[in-house]
Amino acid sequence: MSHPALSDLNEEQAPAVLAPDGPALVLAGAGSGKTRVLTYRAAHLLSRGVPAPRILLLTFTKKASRVMQERLTGLMGPTFFIPWAGTFHHVGYRLIREFGHRIGVEGGRTLLDREDQRDLVKEIRDAVVGEDPGEELPPAAAIAGYLSLSANLLLPLPAVIRRRAPWLGHLEKTIEAIARRYREEKAAQRVLDFDDLLVLWLRLLEESPETAELLRDRFRHVLVDEYQDTNPLQGKILDLLVASHKNLFVVGDDSQSIYSFRGAAIDNILSFQERYPEAGVYRLEKNYRSTPNILSVANRIIEQNSRQIPKTLYSPLPEADHPTLVRMYSDQDQARYITTRIRRALDRGQEPSEIAVLYRAHYVSLSLQLSLSRAGIPFHLTSGLKFFEQAHIKDILSWLRLLENDRDAMAWRRILRMVPRVGRKTAEKIEALLSRAEAPRKALGDPAFLKAAPASARPGIAGIAERFSQLAERREKNPRDVMDLVGTILATGYHDYLYETFEDPESREEDILSFAAQIPPETDLADFMAELALLEAGGEELSQEEQKNRVVLSTVHQAKGLEWDTVYLLSLAEGVFPSSRSAETDEEIEEERRLFYVAVTRARHDLVLCVPQVVGRGFGSPAPPSRFLGEIGEDRLTVTVYNSWED
Ligand code: ATP
Ligand code: MG
Repeated sequence: MSHPALSDLNEEQAPAVLAPDGPALVLAGAGSGKTRVLTYRAAHLLSRGVPAPRILLLTFTKKASRVMQERLTGLMGPTFFIPWAGTFHHVGYRLIREFGHRIGVEGGRTLLDREDQRDLVKEIRDAVVGEDPGEELPPAAAIAGYLSLSANLLLPLPAVIRRRAPWLGHLEKTIEAIARRYREEKAAQRVLDFDDLLVLWLRLLEESPETAELLRDRFRHVLVDEYQDTNPLQGKILDLLVASHKNLFVVGDDSQSIYSFRGAAIDNILSFQERYPEAGVYRLEKNYRSTPNILSVANRIIEQNSRQIPKTLYSPLPEADHPTLVRMYSDQDQARYITTRIRRALDRGQEPSEIAVLYRAHYVSLSLQLSLSRAGIPFHLTSGLKFFEQAHIKDILSWLRLLENDRDAMAWRRILRMVPRVGRKTAEKIEALLSRAEAPRKALGDPAFLKAAPASARPGIAGIAERFSQLAERREKNPRDVMDLVGTILATGYHDYLYETFEDPESREEDILSFAAQIPPETDLADFMAELALLEAGGEELSQEEQKNRVVLSTVHQAKGLEWDTVYLLSLAEGVFPSSRSAETDEEIEEERRLFYVAVTRARHDLVLCVPQVVGRGFGSPAPPSRFLGEIGEDRLTVTVYNSWED
């Protein structure tokens, strides 16, 4: 690498970038330049003459990989490009396509996403229940979760159940049988799930010595970002992959380990020096990202955790304003406050993409999504689905859509999929009949119509017709009460469906109630559906250019590794952040605190902590401020109160 590039690095970073071959660990706090070091390390290897295809560059998200490639092109010139860069799953997929046949996995496999995976497990689970109705099995999603943990933790299924769900001990055998059938079914359908991509990658290394040899030779240098969030399976893949040359260069921060619920093992980073005693270990202490005022808040938070490697982090930047803590009454006030502030910032000329709003859980952003849309401020959701694209919300919307228009084929498809014993074939047949019917909602209940379905599916289908007639009746009584309709949908069977289908039925039900709470009284169903449809129109996959003109909304988990000039943190109240679902044990609280540390350290200049008094799903209830605010201490914050009537 030429000298100008080295001058982009400080005296701690340069030695790490120039580290000799062999294992190396860069262990440092947020914003200290770990990702930069990794990028420059790749550039350094390239300039040393290592061919680009000999480098494997693993990142946590696709976006991180793209950002790194752009950086490399900037450093090395437009022709430099690392072909083997991406997430573990992405790389695993390519390797299995290339070498799968060597371990009996022939080509032409298709991929099941998490939803498909759950559906397949559900089919098998339902069949098992059908054979033995006495069994009280957990929901399909929970079973799929245990299978996934078993793969990622490298533990047999019974061990996972003992650890994560000891109360299911008596069902171990049944769940194992489901797992076996699931595996057989995947093989018969020639499909792979996400976990298989890693499991088979490991098998390539363990069972096919020639392939292992070839891969070690191909990937002369393995570079890994966010190493603290690798799981045991990934850790083992890496160790085997570099077994001959040990050129494993990893960067991470144990204080930002936030995926233990998915099996990430902080042990990988903690035991790195034991596994590689010869490893070079590099510490970075200068944070270039945030003002000293933001950093002092971050440091104060993470100090409270007992399980961590001590690290110093300071900012060379000039002193600036304290982060702001704003108290307001409700979730709606919070949305209004942020919308007004963002509007003003944009009018002053701030780039929308330099503003991010981060939250602990998706549902917290609902009011803000509505409020930004109404104000005409374009936003981009980095994480997952827009609120209205989530399966359970779409289900509810499908019922409402069909009440308004019973020719809506997509909505019919969703509803029919929920009926027990209706497979894809039957659903298609019914859809075709419905499309020709005079009055589809009514026709559904006709005995003549029901004949089209197998006998076992008929009661379910007749039940739908019955539910629609109840809904239509309620609508007639209260024509401008959409909330009542949502309540009726839940009460007439959707509630039961949630609890039979999902691992997290409570939170989904609460989402639906939150959604209902957003509907103003005296709302006309047609108008309301139109407003939502327009809101949804913003949800398409955006080009990078388009993303630049949008404010970012993201969960904290998805914001890892990224940074913005201005960051708002939503709903800092007990029960939300820390989440009530993860605040039981000390370990869980420590993980929530690490998550809070990640959130705070995303901000460069402005950090705004929002504290509504009334929070939570559904209609909300009063909640004390997040304990993390108390830990920071108000002397490090500028505290204000927002009253919505001030605008
Ligand atoms: P995280 O822990 O959040 O993943 P990180 O340790 O990976 O953070 P980077 O994202 O690499 O940190 O760097 C944080 C910011 O500091 C980036 O904007 C980066 O460009 C900048 N930066 C890092 N090192 C330097 C340096 N030597 N000179 C100037 N800016 C730097
Ligand atoms: Mg990083």
